[in-house]
Amino acid sequence: MLKPIMPVYNPAPIAPVRGEGVWLFEQNGAAWLDCIGGVASNALGHCHRVLVQALSAQAEKLWHVSNLLQVPGQAALAERLISTTFADTAFFCNTGTEAVECAIKTARRFHNRNGAPERVDIVGFSGSFHGRTYAAINASGNAAYLDGFGPAMAGFKHVDLDNAEDVRAAILAPTTAAVIVEPVQGEGGARALREDDLRRLRELTTGAGVLLIYDEVQSGMGRTGRLFAHQWFEGVEPDIMAIAKALGSGFPVGACLSTAVAASGMSTGAHGSTFGGNPLAMAVASAAFDFIANPETLAHVRLVAARLRDGLAALASRYPDIILELRGKGLLIGARLRSENRAFMAAARDQRLLIAGGGDNCIRLLPPLTITTDEADEVLARLEATCAAMATRISDAA
Ligand code: PMP
Repeated sequence: MLKPIMPVYNPAPIAPVRGEGVWLFEQNGAAWLDCIGGVASNALGHCHRVLVQALSAQAEKLWHVSNLLQVPGQAALAERLISTTFADTAFFCNTGTEAVECAIKTARRFHNRNGAPERVDIVGFSGSFHGRTYAAINASGNAAYLDGFGPAMAGFKHVDLDNAEDVRAAILAPTTAAVIVEPVQGEGGARALREDDLRRLRELTTGAGVLLIYDEVQSGMGRTGRLFAHQWFEGVEPDIMAIAKALGSGFPVGACLSTAVAASGMSTGAHGSTFGGNPLAMAVASAAFDFIANPETLAHVRLVAARLRDGLAALASRYPDIILELRGKGLLIGARLRSENRAFMAAARDQRLLIAGGGDNCIRLLPPLTITTDEADEVLARLEATCAAMATRISDAA
């Protein structure tokens, strides 16, 4: 029987009706420790006062006007993003995949309008994820997302980041427009790129006249303990960057940031969105931005992330048959498991702990940036109990 909701999801049997900080509550009062965090979106936790106030105040004034008029809040948020990054300009949209679409269009249009219309190819990496629209699934380095959706689109190539020769050849090809890369792969299994990987990509693309696009939809907005993950390193800024998720900290909003040069093809009429950057989104995102960009917030992320990582390392050494490897950066925490990650996620739910999965048989912890050290310790205690339950199961099965 067809379900009323198209069955592309397989939700856990949990129906939250209220949230507060790192906690979710069901109607019957059951409390869940939420380390999925709307898949790295609820950066300030659930229903943070600052965001509730920003949204309520804007809701009293103006909800929506379209981009045919000047939208309140857009210029101010764009200024914030520009002053804290490599970018000179911002396009607002609603989701991560739309931010990626805009990034790809911006890159192709740059070459088209600057004397190299043959440069159309977008080079992506194995294991990457960029969203679910057509360009995004074609850019993503996982053929499963294309299955049954018609022919793969022309103009997309994939290489393995560890194969230096393939990476070089793809970037130097005369039809290459841009490289798209997540500085920390999220869905693919919390794989943090090393400084020399990013530096190599930046040097090769610059040398070849190819644009570098970062997808910081998941890794951006404070998640790793810097405003953007690539900002851990000097001199590896991109030309274009897609962001979303924590930008609205639970309210749908994304942005494509670009240098003036890379955006030089994006003239009036080249792109657009009905809802992109609407007043409600701008009000929430501006409030979230000010909170997240505060050095105290970022310092807190680094502190609590180190505590979680130390605790996880201790767990991994006590349960080497369960946890094979720790991954990720900051509060984009991954662990590669020996046994099936879905079984571990279900066992965590028995402890009232919500965690996400990821490629490469990983689990991911994506708690709010505001998680306290006590709450982090509670996460570790529940993970310990999960590991203990898994170990019992494994020894019972043996
Ligand atoms: N890029 C990355 C790196 C992501 O992690 C995601 C979502 N998980 C997307 C793009 C797509 O974002 P959205 O679901 O908002 O379209």
